[in-house]
Amino acid sequence: MEQVSIERKENRFVRELLSPSDRLLVGSTRDFVEGQIMPVRRELEESTRADFRLREEMQARLLPLGLQGGFLPEEYGGMGISSALSNCLIAEEMGRGDASLFYNLAAGMLAMRPAIKAGNRAVLEAFAPRFAQEDEVFMGCYAVAEPESGSDVENLDLRGTSIAATARLEGDSWKVNGTKGWCVNAGLAGMYCVVCTTGADRGEEGVALVYLDARADGLRFLGWEDMTGMRGCRLGGIELAGVAVPKEWRASGPGEDALLLRENTSFARLLTGALAVGCAQGAFEEVLSFTSDRIAAGKPIRQHTVCAAILADIATAIQVARDACLNAAYAFDRPEEYGDGSSNHMLSRASLAKVFCCEAAIHATNRAMELMGSYGYVSDYYVEKYWRDARALQSWEGGAHLARLDIARGYYDFDQFHRNELYELIMQRS
Ligand SMILES: Cc1cc2nc3c(=O)[nH]c(=O)nc-3n(C[C@H](O)[C@H](O)[C@H](O)COP(=O)(O)OP(=O)(O)OC[C@H]3O[C@@H](n4cnc5c(N)ncnc54)[C@H](O)[C@@H]3O)c2cc1C
Repeated sequence: MEQVSIERKENRFVRELLSPSDRLLVGSTRDFVEGQIMPVRRELEESTRADFRLREEMQARLLPLGLQGGFLPEEYGGMGISSALSNCLIAEEMGRGDASLFYNLAAGMLAMRPAIKAGNRAVLEAFAPRFAQEDEVFMGCYAVAEPESGSDVENLDLRGTSIAATARLEGDSWKVNGTKGWCVNAGLAGMYCVVCTTGADRGEEGVALVYLDARADGLRFLGWEDMTGMRGCRLGGIELAGVAVPKEWRASGPGEDALLLRENTSFARLLTGALAVGCAQGAFEEVLSFTSDRIAAGKPIRQHTVCAAILADIATAIQVARDACLNAAYAFDRPEEYGDGSSNHMLSRASLAKVFCCEAAIHATNRAMELMGSYGYVSDYYVEKYWRDARALQSWEGGAHLARLDIARGYYDFDQFHRNELYELIMQRS
């Protein structure tokens, strides 16, 4: 039978959306994924049940690609890959191989972005050279969630009032106390960006993004979780007991840090959307190949009309998700035309992309498993891995539900209504 081309390379997106350097980035990332990640996807997961050695080796193999510090401005040794669109393109390529390897890098980028946006030279001078080094793995950790309140820390309705980790200014340094949980690279990172409050009663004015060196006294690693998916990431918690941090290591200042947190949430949701598209694409390629080889009732499974219709549904979900994500990323990169990344409008666009892409990926991987019968449920064919990864993507950055509330904010005055009902009550109590 004639092989049907998947044509990933040519028809995935409107070509004019991409700059020549974006095309180069996509090409080199894809080559890496094809050559280095695809052949070891299963071994990578097996290693995470044991010693994580292969995962560490893969992080080192990624170094020549330059992505560890690629997000840094050129004057700090990076490649200035700061646009949401470029990062989403890389994320999709990596998600097609192994989303967790990308997130190990992205955690560092998310941690450093607020300082870069704020032009905080002290933080950049302290940590940029370590990210920019090309011969040693250096990771960052973006510590937002807390064991007692994951979503609440990111819940815009609560306006910083539910952050339990505190940063108090004592002389020339911040003293940071609290516990953070569910953080990618906890225990491995060389630096942490910790979301704290200078006083819960100060609301958004109190939100403080404070940078910590992992070697600081008072920082204790609490252990790792055993996850269903995204198994190449290490997810864990840290305890902070009076960690002293130079005064200049707050990203910006009162009110501004809350905006940086919002802006970073928009950016992170776009990245997650793109990773989800990558997972779905990886699963689609697996199921196309399997259903071309596997014969049922005398012909390849994908030639049965009902199966072709399911494959068409999967293709539709992936392409619409990709379009939604890349369009939102394109708009995010043009704040003068479409609004700042911290605006309700942009948070809504990014959240919409995340919600849709994650659901599309869960749907696509689930249906791919269905088309592969028992083979879909075993690890040899990877589709179940993509399904597990997609489920994890949906559950972070405020989970599935808060992102929906952020979408509503872009379409009507949900914010105002909610503030009256909930926010005022909380403010009265505090
Ligand atoms: C693989 C993975 C990687 C992660 N990486 C990081 C990381 O690097 N850094 C970090 O800080 N965190 C990270 N997280 C944590 C993640 O962001 C939080 O787990 C997430 O925000 C949800 O918090 P929670 O688990 O405490 O759930 P909860 O906040 O307890 O929520 C439980 C349920 O209630 C829903 N819910 C919560 N509030 C509302 C509301 N107001 N209205 C309606 N429904 C609501 C939620 O959507 C969810 O379904 C990661 C999580 C995972 C799974």
